[in-house]
Amino acid sequence: MSRTIAILPGDGIGPEVMEGAERVLAAVSARFSIEFSLARADVGGLAIDRHGTALPDKTLSTCESSEAVLFGSVGGPKWETLPPEKQPERAALLPLRRHFDLFVGLRPALVFPQLVDASPLKAELFRDGLDILIVRELTGGVYFAGPKGRDETRAFDTMAYTPEEVERIARVAFETAMQRSRRVTSVDKANILTTMVLWRETVSRVAQDYPDVSLNHMYVDNAAMQLIRNPAQFDVILCGNMFGDIISDEAAMLTGSLGMLPSASLSDTSFGLYEPIGGSAPDIAGRGVANPIAQILSAAMLLKFSLDLPEAHDAIFDAVRLVLDDGYRTADIASAGTTTVSTEEMGRKIAHRLTEEV
Ligand code: NAD
Repeated sequence: MSRTIAILPGDGIGPEVMEGAERVLAAVSARFSIEFSLARADVGGLAIDRHGTALPDKTLSTCESSEAVLFGSVGGPKWETLPPEKQPERAALLPLRRHFDLFVGLRPALVFPQLVDASPLKAELFRDGLDILIVRELTGGVYFAGPKGRDETRAFDTMAYTPEEVERIARVAFETAMQRSRRVTSVDKANILTTMVLWRETVSRVAQDYPDVSLNHMYVDNAAMQLIRNPAQFDVILCGNMFGDIISDEAAMLTGSLGMLPSASLSDTSFGLYEPIGGSAPDIAGRGVANPIAQILSAAMLLKFSLDLPEAHDAIFDAVRLVLDDGYRTADIASAGTTTVSTEEMGRKIAHRLTEEV
């Protein structure tokens, strides 16, 4: 049986890094005898140019008939003069999240031991690497749920959460922690915000169903500070929408390059959307220097979470580690004594390692 994946490369470096991910999927297919059916579709600025809209109906139906979506990135200077609601990111990504009820944001902040020197923090803070997973609520809170408005005298946004919304994301965090080191840090602002009192109460109640997982609560300002002071203390970090947005970017920077980090947006079915955390990087697009590893690791997450192929996920991560061990780096992570390779070469080397390691 062939497994269907929608491939939405998008704009800027999207198509360049997607090529590497497709190469790696071909290598996974050969190594594990799995047949993938890749359905490519236009999205973002490219789709605006070709079809007049960032998310054409045909693209949406391609996603609907697939098991998961591998997304590149969208946007660029060419489309920045459009009205905000028509711009590629807002008009493609947010509707996709809403349409598929992708309420779970999973963002690993992963520092490979080979790359500790690429981090802006002192290497001794995580000499053995760093592996934090941020579980962010994606479709509620102040960004989406409550009333918002503006008149001559004021503007307002409202933070609102229901117990059900908090409970379903908390369960994802605890279930995920069970597969890892069984520690959850829940980030809130329960000393100031009523919504966050509900958040803390609900997370504590859900925790009772997971006696093997240790839970601690941390105010968001302290969490922002602790991430810099001692990042290795964290394993799974559970956050609401806005705090998760900020904390996950902070955690990403610990790792040194946006080009290394994948992400997953999941629903309560196995369907999910997977994408690098970075954008379309117009400053380097078309030059063959972008790092394809974030896109390749996004494909790995897709295989694990949507296609239930954890061994293929692990094999891709191992292949990336081996290529880094061999000293190959794209320009964004290069350092003294390493060999700088192009986007295409990096994709080829990882794919090669996958088939070679059989
Ligand atoms: P960006 O993430 O595209 O780039 C920030 C910096 O990181 C740039 O210097 C870029 O060169 C570098 N970078 C990012 N990915 C890299 C990679 N794989 N390899 C090497 N370096 C990499 O952010 P930006 O410049 O703020 O945004 C550019 C465009 O991307 C905008 O139009 C924005 O709307 C869009 N964007 C899209 C998404 C998305 O599609 N999900 C997310 C963020 C931004």
